[in-house]
Amino acid sequence: MNEEEKEILVENLYDLLPATINLKNLLGNEVFISWFLPRLKLIKEIQRWPQEKVDKLTQIRLKNFLTHLNNDSVFWSARFREYFLDIQSRDIFAELFKLPVINKATLIEWGDTALILHNNAPTIDYCTSGTTGVPLRGRIDEFDMIRNELLYVFEPDVFEIQRIGELLRRKFVLLIGRKSTGLWSPFSEYFPLDVYSAISNKKTRQEIYNKILDNSFICLSAYSSIALELMKYAREDGVALPLIAHISGEGISSEEERFIYDTTGVPITFQYNCKESGSVGEKCPINIGSSLYHIYRERVLVEIVDDDGKQLENDEEGNIVLTVLDRTAMPIIRYSSGDKGKILSKLCSCGRLSPLLELQGRQKDVILLPDDNTFNILLFRALFVKEIGLKNIVKYQIIQKKKDYLEINIVLRRNIGSEKIKLTETIMESVLHNKVKIDIKIIDHIGNYDSGKNKVFVSLEEYGKVSCV
Ligand SMILES: [Zn+2]
Repeated sequence: MNEEEKEILVENLYDLLPATINLKNLLGNEVFISWFLPRLKLIKEIQRWPQEKVDKLTQIRLKNFLTHLNNDSVFWSARFREYFLDIQSRDIFAELFKLPVINKATLIEWGDTALILHNNAPTIDYCTSGTTGVPLRGRIDEFDMIRNELLYVFEPDVFEIQRIGELLRRKFVLLIGRKSTGLWSPFSEYFPLDVYSAISNKKTRQEIYNKILDNSFICLSAYSSIALELMKYAREDGVALPLIAHISGEGISSEEERFIYDTTGVPITFQYNCKESGSVGEKCPINIGSSLYHIYRERVLVEIVDDDGKQLENDEEGNIVLTVLDRTAMPIIRYSSGDKGKILSKLCSCGRLSPLLELQGRQKDVILLPDDNTFNILLFRALFVKEIGLKNIVKYQIIQKKKDYLEINIVLRRNIGSEKIKLTETIMESVLHNKVKIDIKIIDHIGNYDSGKNKVFVSLEEYGKVSCV
């Protein structure tokens, strides 16, 4: 790292961004834009830096972060003492690994005591459902979000650095079906979806197309199932949308993802996000249709551990544990995200030197079988879609209502006959070892939830549970 890189990335000495900058005054803010662009350029370059150079950077970042927590938080300094951390140590990574791995239940138990207030910066609180049904209340510092998280919106190659200045001066994103309280808010317009304005409705679609074209929106942000639905229709309607689709939220199957990419030519940015940590990594174009993500190693340290917290080698599958170096309001240190995966030892052929994380399906995204075995929902969905034929499907939703009963609601594009439905039921039942009764119901409309989220799979645990507001 040269001095300029160090100053831009570590920024403990010359932080040129005034703390008064917030989401309300961000749009077209020239002070912000001139600070942001060199930093973004560097973040894009880092993805191709050799590991040793990145290690030097993360070492400094980790040390600064732990020092900050040690000085500014009674909770964290007590915790570091309890585990005998030496923050002055030359091997700061070894010190970090003295701390035990924690999970969502730990964060819920800690509650507000582990949070940190500083800068008097505004904070954004959010809520995610806990594994035990207890919601986790989390907090993000708005200043952190602007300085760090916004970089990762533009990190994917499809956002060329020359264009970003122009984009930061106008609204360029259309949010469909979900509002943003976070970093999209200054740059986006919201298009609500409800029972009366579904994407299957031609008038609604025309409104969306007009909005995109009239306002020169270049980015679409929606849950994957909604983006997929819109793209499929746009293709049928013969409308070319000059868009980048930013997809997150519930996973779509590889087949579906590949389908959007191949048939529409729409570039997709697909990030592995978790609320508690922000962006962990990004899928490069080569890996569309797979579950491989390049790790943003300059902002998040990813470990793979077994159930006892022991670190595993590359190519071994285990629990994904995250340490986030740029979130200060709710520190995420050796946090088990609840996802499983492995880090590959082979590098990607795209030229990025950041390692690949192969993500397994979310742990809760499984069909529970009566004998307490489970079946991966992504695999189940892929098989189901293949059986019915992707081109015949407008939308579908799988709901596990009982351990031995699965309901699949489906909106079809054309009649495929009741024999075909019966046959699919039988085939899908045999996929689940004939332990679960499957009932496919053809309906006219599947509504979105209040949040605009069209959930493709409702697990037994989630079924009937009230979501957190
Ligand atoms: Zn790659």
